[in-house]
Amino acid sequence: MDFESYDVLVVGGGLAGIRAAIAAVEANPRVRVGMVSKVYPMRSHTVSAEGGAAAALGPGDSFETHAFDTIKGSDYLADQEVVEAFVREAPVEIIQMEHWGCPWSRNPDGTIAVRPFGGMTTWRTCFAADKTGFHMLHAVFQTSLKYPQITRHDEAFVTKLLVEDSRCVGVVALDIRSGRFDAITAKSVILATGGLGRVYAFTTNGNICTGDGMALAYRAGAGLKDMEMVQFHPTGLPFTGILITEAVRGEGGYLLNKDGERFLKRYVPNKMELGPRDIISRAMTTEFEEGRGFEGPHGKYMHLDVRHLGEKVIDRKLPFMRELGREFLGIDIVTDPIPVRPVQHYMMGGVDANISGETPILGLYAAGECANVGLNGGNRLGSNSLPECLVFGAAAGRAAAHYASSARPVTANPVDAMLWDEARRVEAEYLEKKGGDERIGPIREEMQREMDAGAGVFRTKEGLSRLVRNLGGLRERFEKVRIDDSSRTFNTEIIAALELDFMLEVASVIAFTALAREESRGAHARRDFPERDDEHFLKHTLAFHTNTLAPRLEYSDVHITTFKPQARSY
Ligand SMILES: Cc1cc2nc3c(=O)[nH]c(=O)nc-3n(C[C@H](O)[C@H](O)[C@H](O)COP(=O)(O)OP(=O)(O)OC[C@H]3O[C@@H](n4cnc5c(N)ncnc54)[C@H](O)[C@@H]3O)c2cc1C
Repeated sequence: MDFESYDVLVVGGGLAGIRAAIAAVEANPRVRVGMVSKVYPMRSHTVSAEGGAAAALGPGDSFETHAFDTIKGSDYLADQEVVEAFVREAPVEIIQMEHWGCPWSRNPDGTIAVRPFGGMTTWRTCFAADKTGFHMLHAVFQTSLKYPQITRHDEAFVTKLLVEDSRCVGVVALDIRSGRFDAITAKSVILATGGLGRVYAFTTNGNICTGDGMALAYRAGAGLKDMEMVQFHPTGLPFTGILITEAVRGEGGYLLNKDGERFLKRYVPNKMELGPRDIISRAMTTEFEEGRGFEGPHGKYMHLDVRHLGEKVIDRKLPFMRELGREFLGIDIVTDPIPVRPVQHYMMGGVDANISGETPILGLYAAGECANVGLNGGNRLGSNSLPECLVFGAAAGRAAAHYASSARPVTANPVDAMLWDEARRVEAEYLEKKGGDERIGPIREEMQREMDAGAGVFRTKEGLSRLVRNLGGLRERFEKVRIDDSSRTFNTEIIAALELDFMLEVASVIAFTALAREESRGAHARRDFPERDDEHFLKHTLAFHTNTLAPRLEYSDVHITTFKPQARSY
């Protein structure tokens, strides 16, 4: 059987994946890199990032304050040496992006402009109007095209990691256009598969954010770190979940309850609208519960008001938000307040990886939102994720190229057998199964509703225990799922089934790890354990796959260098 073989294989064509591919060939021009993506790379979720990318570039800013803000924002669950390296590399990467053609918004003197963002003590978020992700992804994508060493496999869906003798040697991928299963082997593999927001019903994440890479690594034996840490962004549009960027508050927008009151004065009096996301999401939820939210057809909401900024500022700095208001709500944000409510947005947890992106599985690396390198801890600060993809994507690319240059080649024999087994598994489980009476859609919707209810902004033992049980029931129903489309070409039903399989896996890990963390830290707010408990839980959770739904949990120390944990108030 033939298979493609590379030195480095990147799974994911978003910001982290493309940055990793470029870094690998720049580190060693002889390295051959493959890049697999289930969608055309420019459709990766990065493209929808709006607000900006943080880096201590400006005069008056410093690495120390960016590090401290990030660590305080993480509720002291970040690994501090990782944060310290990150803040030093972020400006280098932002300038690199400029050289690759990213059209940053500018100051009148031509320098890169920055805007304020939540939880940051100073203005440090670089932006390209309010379409930052679109421009950054374009810049890295067009740069990647000049390297003949990078070969793309677009619209190929990875279903399994090939692991031989505890070493990752490639992937099995379903070519979506032909329906063929291919083994793509490599001396090292980088997972850059993005987030998992679609396990929730109400999320800002695109349809493709289904946690595939986390589930792939978990099943291959890697640990998933801090999966209970799920970020809720305060300002999503009711019903669609479309994000209204934090830049709206950065530029001076107000959050108002139904009494017209800037209620954040009761929760984050010194920061107000520029408080961190976890605290503002809890403040909004509390206001809703106490009857001070607006009631709408899609539940409770608040007003986000930018009318006082004026049309000129809105059109220059937030043009896309005006467009969203017009297209999706039929309002003009110049004259109308925007209805918003907290919405799942980002996954702090992910594949356990070190500062170079190495996972405990030899040859397997991870970067970007699917990874947890220890940067974000319990709560990521807005605008730290895009630079995270650059800094740690590049680090993983370099490390994977370095490892590949001395690793032994991959042998055909076991790969053939593994490819055959995986192709048979998918065919038997989905395409050839007769008689199952369950459907993908209802199971997915129920999982999403359960996740919203049990693992949302606030959590309890009862809610999480119910969630664990119900996810178990959904897994049993999933075993009986039937697929009607038996064609090979662009079989989107089988892709939906494979994604649901991954989502049920990672959703369970979220539920079990959240149940086990009996404290409140960062985005993980337990009603029954409202305090942070450093004595027992200043620790990373590590979840490992077992033969049951319940993961085996281990805990590891948080690396603290400069900043001792303090009470977190804003
Ligand atoms: C609406 C929105 C706005 C945001 N705004 C900001 C912002 O302003 N600032 C900020 O810092 N962060 C922001 N974020 C967060 C940030 O954009 C993301 O965390 C980041 O872009 C993730 O990049 P990534 O490269 O890790 O993954 P993605 O860009 O999600 O890419 C994942 C890639 O993996 C591929 N893939 C996944 N599964 C498979 C599979 N099974 N087989 C093959 N390929 C696969 C996909 O095809 C895709 O190419 C925002 C997020 C959202 C949702």
